[in-house]
Parts: sequence; C-alpha cells; structure tokens
Amino acid sequence: MAGVCFHSTLVTGANRGIGLGFVRHLLALPNPPEWVFATCRDPKGQRAQELRDLASKHPNLVLVKLDVANPSEIVNAAKIVEGKLNGAGLNLLINNAGIFTPVSLETVDSEEMIRAYKTNAVGPLLMAQAFLPLLKKAAQDSKDKRLSCNKAAIINISTLLGSIERTPESYFKPVISYRCSKAALNMLTRCQALTYSEAGILCVALHPGWVKTDMGTQEADLTVDTSVRGLLSVLPILSEKHSGMLLNWEGKAIPW
Ligand code: NDP
Repeated sequence: MAGVCFHSTLVTGANRGIGLGFVRHLLALPNPPEWVFATCRDPKGQRAQELRDLASKHPNLVLVKLDVANPSEIVNAAKIVEGKLNGAGLNLLINNAGIFTPVSLETVDSEEMIRAYKTNAVGPLLMAQAFLPLLKKAAQDSKDKRLSCNKAAIINISTLLGSIERTPESYFKPVISYRCSKAALNMLTRCQALTYSEAGILCVALHPGWVKTDMGTQEADLTVDTSVRGLLSVLPILSEKHSGMLLNWEGKAIPW
C-alpha cells in the first residue's frame, strides 16, 4: 500500500460488516485519507456505536446519515460532504450498503424485488449521480493522467452471485432478488465505466469473497479483516484496463 493515498473516501453502510471494516482499515493506513465519510442509516443509533467510538479518536472521520434507498437523503449527504471538502473533490466512492433476503423463485414477490433493487442497484446509481460533481472535481485536480483510485473512482461492492455465467455452480442458494439486483449493479458498473471514463473516473465492481458478517454468516470463508485487506490492496492496482470489470478481493476477474 506504499505510495497510495485515497485523499477522501466515502463508504456507504459503514456501521457494520464490510463497510465498518473499510473504515477501520482506511483509518489505520500509514497514509490515511484526509477525510473518511462513513455513512449509515442511523449514526446516532445503537448500531453505529463502533463508528462513534472511532470518530471520537479520528478527527478525519465524519459520520453522515444516509439511507441509500432514500433519494433525498442521498442529495442531502452530497451537500454535507461538499461542505466538509471545502472546494476539494471526493476521490473514492465505495457503494457498499446492500441487502440480502433468502427468497426463491417460488417465494419472492414484487415488494421484495423492488426493495432489493432500490438498495443494491438504484442506490449506487443515485449515489454516483449525486457525487459526480465531487468525483469530477477530484479527477480534475489530480496530477495522475491515467484512471486510478488515487484520482477518482466509484467502487461498487457486488458479488459472484450476480455473475450470470457463474450462476449454475451456486444456484443451490437461489436468492433471486439479491442475484438480479447485483446483476443489475454489474451492468450499471459497465455503463458507468463507459460514461464516466471521459471525466477521469474509474468504475469497478468488486466481490469481497464470502465474508463472516451478518449477511455472510459465521460459516463464511473469510474474516472481514482478510477481505477488506484484500480489497484495499486491489484498489491501487486498478487502471483503465479494469474499468467496467467485476473483480474479486484478490484482483481476479469474474465473468459477467
Ligand atoms: P451486512 O448485512 O453485514 O451489512 C450491510 C450494511 O449495509 C449495514 O451497514 C447496513 O446498515 C447497510 N445497509 C443496508 N441497507 C441500507 C440502506 N438502505 N441504506 C444504507 N445502508 C444500508 O453485509 P456485509 O457487510 O456482508 O455486505 C456489504 C456488501 O458486501 C453488500 O453490498 C453485500 O452484498 C456485499 N457482499 C457480501 C458478501 C458476504 O459474504 N458478506 C459476499 C458478497 C458480497 P443497517 O445496520 O442500517 O442495516
């Protein structure tokens, strides 16, 4: 991680699981970001206690209330972040918040499909729209000529379960709303990469592995620390050739 500096980073769903792991590891970097914006639905609530404890020790950590399924909260969060950045741009937007419901083709209904899309696909879309001016600003102000996470990047935390090609091997877990919404997120990532590269913004979807969190359960393969360490070591190697791809926590490409 030597030489890497994410000057300013925003993480959604930062109060637990992988999101909280990102915040912890970013703050512990030898060269930590000037600003870490940790967003969550209820920064004053019980579930954000660990974030508040971190904020009391790290003046560069800012907690922002943000439900990614609520468009007006997204716009509001962008205004708060813009105010803190005080004329600077946002380098890294990590769309991490996500929901997972164990439904099959037989049990899923329209409400569940819409709920999953709103959080897992529409949320990241609206986040990128709202934070685009700040990401563009970071890209413009950067000396880097090439796309990079040092310059400006959107990282969509996706999943292997959203890969259409790899579905048969994991279909013993149908999780229809989750798979469809994450496949939509993968498509969104490709479209964002094609659109935003002109503005100097790299866009990548990352699969964190199967991780021991509330979502992944304790049966999962990886600890949050191993996954996040892996993801954070992938970020510095990302360039033009990765933009619009789905990669895993070790940097290996996953087919759509
Ligand atoms: P957790 O269930 O442990 O945490 C989910 C986080 O997302 C929580 O902070 C939760 O906040 C937040 N969240 C959910 N809905 C919203 C919303 N509408 N607005 C804002 N925040 C919200 O999940 P993980 O940490 O395991 O997952 C993080 C990401 O990694 C997800 O996108 C997931 O799909 C992906 N992933 C995880 C894998 C795993 O094995 N764990 C495997 C592959 C991908 P709150 O506390 O308010 O509910």
